[in-house]
Amino acid sequence: MKILVVNCGSSSLKYQLINMENEELIAKGLAERIGIDGSVVKHETIGKEKVVIEQNMDNHKAAIQIVLDALVDPNHGAIKSMDEISAVGHRVVHGGEEFSDSVLITDEVKKALEKCSDIAPLHNPPNLMGIHACEEILPNVPMVGVFDTAFHQTMPKASFMYALPYEMYEKHKIRKYGFHGTSHKYVANRAAEILGKPIGDLKIVTCHLGNGASITAVDGGKSIDTSMGFTPLEGLAMGTRCGDMDPAIVTFLMEKDHLSCYEINEMMNKKSGVLGISGVSSDFRDIEQAAAKGNERAQLALDVYHKLVTKYIGAYAAEMGGVDAIVFTAGLGENSPDTRKEACKNLEFLGVKIDDERNNVRGKETIVTTDDSKVKVLLIPTNEELAIARETKAIVQ
Ligand code: ADP
Repeated sequence: MKILVVNCGSSSLKYQLINMENEELIAKGLAERIGIDGSVVKHETIGKEKVVIEQNMDNHKAAIQIVLDALVDPNHGAIKSMDEISAVGHRVVHGGEEFSDSVLITDEVKKALEKCSDIAPLHNPPNLMGIHACEEILPNVPMVGVFDTAFHQTMPKASFMYALPYEMYEKHKIRKYGFHGTSHKYVANRAAEILGKPIGDLKIVTCHLGNGASITAVDGGKSIDTSMGFTPLEGLAMGTRCGDMDPAIVTFLMEKDHLSCYEINEMMNKKSGVLGISGVSSDFRDIEQAAAKGNERAQLALDVYHKLVTKYIGAYAAEMGGVDAIVFTAGLGENSPDTRKEACKNLEFLGVKIDDERNNVRGKETIVTTDDSKVKVLLIPTNEELAIARETKAIVQ
């Protein structure tokens, strides 16, 4: 069984074709600048040369068509015909309160997703465009929606309610939803496998630290709290997002600097985080380099970031009444020994002992604590595409 995994952004489309017999990647690629001049598909079939296809793509349907043509191309393709694709798994950012699990996409599901677009205006409309485009071109292939929010639907009400007037929840569904759920679920389960213990017996804090970043308390395999909220802006400081701050700052700045809703939103989402503090970059590699050369603001950005990671881990350990394992994943979590070390520095009181030699590793599954460390810290590369493909397989079977 071969499953195509599709992740649509507003002008991009990432895809992977996975062979579910052995869970191996067959082909992958990225369509960029959809609907913009200079659109391009970068395609790679594993074991063959990469190709760059420069072709006009007015919309996501055109992009999907080029991707499928690339997949069946006799030279750089991966399959003989589209019939080999058994199902398509779509990453969908926001499933609201409706979806606590992956679903087979039906007309009803699409209607429900349109409703969720209100609370995820940047993410859900492109996800839906991708679904429509695939349905038009592959009308007989089952489609499955896998939601970033679904894993967090197990959060108790006390974790997801904001202390606003209750009507705001009833009227506008304002509550914490949480994101990166596919990744948190995948690495938490993988941690249990590596530790050789049933996930039901474990209290795990998972730290997904990429451009976007979130931390989740996974108690007995279920998300019971997470740092992202109503939108992916809450929680940790991120590459360009501000994360937690006093909400009064918003109205203060709007008044003082005459900022519009759009402008303040842009500031908080695109000009803040470690970019905002350091003034150097949103990329942690640049910031770590600048800090090493003595740039004080770059160092400050790292200090702020590490402190927030420590704070959330500590808070979630307290919330769960203990912690057995802490998992680091995504770009920074997988590749920055410094981040793991600094974030865990003050957690010795919980029983965390980082082994510097073991921690000096990138991108491969490793336990980075000493043998006598009460709490295990693990580096586990995330694989959201494989997780989506697994969910898709389970649903269509
Ligand atoms: P996303 O999928 O959210 O776009 P990623 O998970 O790819 O993000 O993570 C991107 C982040 O990971 C960037 O800030 C990047 O600097 C950081 N990163 C990647 N490799 C390294 C590295 N070797 N050292 C430090 N940071 C790294």
